[in-house]
Amino acid sequence: MNSLENQPPVFEKLVLKALQLKQQIDSTLSALQGDVKSIRKYYESRAEFSRWRQSADGQTWKAEKWSMQKERCAECKCEIPLKGSHIDRIKPLSKFPTLNLTRSNLRITCPECNLRKSDREVDPSSC
Ligand SMILES: [Zn+2]
Repeated sequence: MNSLENQPPVFEKLVLKALQLKQQIDSTLSALQGDVKSIRKYYESRAEFSRWRQSADGQTWKAEKWSMQKERCAECKCEIPLKGSHIDRIKPLSKFPTLNLTRSNLRITCPECNLRKSDREVDPSSC
């Protein structure tokens, strides 16, 4: 039989190194496949939301919500035009992916408040 025992030590080391490399490649590949899955999920949920937002249902919902908020940003309370206002998720999609299209998790904000998520304090006098 073709056993490693009869091979020179260098050959054995090379085989072991090759096996280690294969294991590293397999593990890296597996991690990459996980990343691809996450990336795909990220873009699919955003694409789904974007389709809804542009649909008649989404547009009607936004106009009604904006009106219910008395045409004001839900965050800073400044008066804002419907056009150009943002639909903001109260609980972020990254942490709550199942709430992607849940209306009760959505509100209308000005672009500034939506993009300035990290510092929540907004001075209403800056409207
Ligand atoms: Zn605002």
